[in-house]
Amino acid sequence: MKKYGHFIDGKYVEPSSASWIDSMDPYRGEAWAQIPQGNSTDADLAVKAASRAMTEGPWSKMSPSNRARLMIRLADLVEQNADRLAETEVRDNGKLLAEMRGQVMYHPNWWRYFAGLADKIEGSVVPIDKPEHFTYTRLEPVGVVVAITAWNSPLLFVAWKCAAAIAAGCSVVIKPSEFASVSTLEFAELTREAGFPDGVFNVVTGYGPEIGSALIDHPDVAKVTFTGSDATGARIYAQAARSMKRVSLELGGKSPNIVFDDCNLDAAASGVISGIFAATGQTCIAGSRLLVQNSIKEAFTQRLVELGSIARKGDPMSPETNIGPVTTQQQYRKILDYMEVAKQEGARCVLGGGPATDASLPGGQFVEPTIFTDVTPGMRIAREEVFGPVLSIIGFDDEADAIRIANDTIYGLAAGIWTQDMGRSFRMSAAIKAGTVWVNTYRAVSYMMPFGGMKHSGLGRESGMASIHEYLETKSVWISYDQNVPTNPFVMR
Ligand code: NAD
Repeated sequence: MKKYGHFIDGKYVEPSSASWIDSMDPYRGEAWAQIPQGNSTDADLAVKAASRAMTEGPWSKMSPSNRARLMIRLADLVEQNADRLAETEVRDNGKLLAEMRGQVMYHPNWWRYFAGLADKIEGSVVPIDKPEHFTYTRLEPVGVVVAITAWNSPLLFVAWKCAAAIAAGCSVVIKPSEFASVSTLEFAELTREAGFPDGVFNVVTGYGPEIGSALIDHPDVAKVTFTGSDATGARIYAQAARSMKRVSLELGGKSPNIVFDDCNLDAAASGVISGIFAATGQTCIAGSRLLVQNSIKEAFTQRLVELGSIARKGDPMSPETNIGPVTTQQQYRKILDYMEVAKQEGARCVLGGGPATDASLPGGQFVEPTIFTDVTPGMRIAREEVFGPVLSIIGFDDEADAIRIANDTIYGLAAGIWTQDMGRSFRMSAAIKAGTVWVNTYRAVSYMMPFGGMKHSGLGRESGMASIHEYLETKSVWISYDQNVPTNPFVMR
């Protein structure tokens, strides 16, 4: 079993606690690696290294074009190591290798895209209204960035957060989830190989309330970027406010997938199934509420049951597998609890509805892909994020009804709309309160397209050109060339 160190100041170091946490293989249900249990001492070491990189080291003087060169080299290295990185993450969080391979091969796009932006960060000259002044703005890196991430897609979050931050000239301390840190620790080695100066990219691991909290409180940290649950996000937001840190939050969702009776039903059924069952439903953008027009509700439900029932559960490394294990024991129990809650609330279970008990499945962390129908918008199963392969079906009559139900949630991360009516697709896209709206597709993301949530789903955006501003501060510079000394120093000019 490999024992990892934190990655601080360009090298792997042992945790000061001399304690490690077992990282579990969720498919086999056994420990397969050990990660450091970090504490406030480790947090301090990592932040100090990141801070030195920004103030004294070669990073502080490096031209943006040279920053970009390193990022492009890193992108190449990710590509060269894609198989190993993908297999590591599959082992650590149980996601399907078939999906992970594609995700890791796509990952370098974020480094290349933001490398392209690194030397196009421009302030501007402001043609100011005051005479004899030259005024301009500078866009400066915000400072040391702490990134705290969830277990469902650790390497993707490295790309989403760190590529923009590093392009902006920041240094980063990333703390992945204690449930799936290994791929981020392995990634760190590539930053060294790419030639990043020591301290630019640091990884520390451990429990959120221990090392995560210490990172947020650290006085040398300027910005916290977080991906995780809305409960933790709210706690981090409040804690960071005490020291006035900048914060971005990518949180949970209860996204509606809205199916109108005029849509291409085959495409919609496939989109709904992948929206909720891909990654065993453990994605923030899971289309967990299916809003289907009442005229086709019964027939469409039947189609989903047929599609869902052919899903093969099994080893996430196997190309044959459609549904992998749930990543953690806590999450497994939470999903099963929600299935019971839904039944007690009167939802009708038409597929699955419990643990998967096939004798061939090791590890004890599989659940059946599940569909509940006759769900009403007030039920907990329609309101709370399950983060598992559990679909709630709600009927609606017309556009107005669909909009009302879709927006009746504290979340606003994503939504899907299935229709062939062009006017309806524009009206619905405008009316839905969500950071991303997909029409006749679902789950598409790109380094070019802003991603983030409205309402309780978050704050700020990742990906796309504007997201680099999440890691920049604007400074206004005023230079006077007026040679006349003001006659009255007590009055502002
Ligand atoms: P979580 O909130 O339990 O943990 C996320 C991270 O926060 C972990 O690294 C954890 O150690 C850390 N943490 C926990 N308590 C902390 C504290 N007090 N101080 C500092 N750090 C702390 O979330 P999770 O269970 O790992 O992930 C699932 C959640 O993430 C879901 O709600 C999902 O919707 C959300 N998510 C959102 C997005 C998005 O982009 N919007 C993407 C993926 C996942």
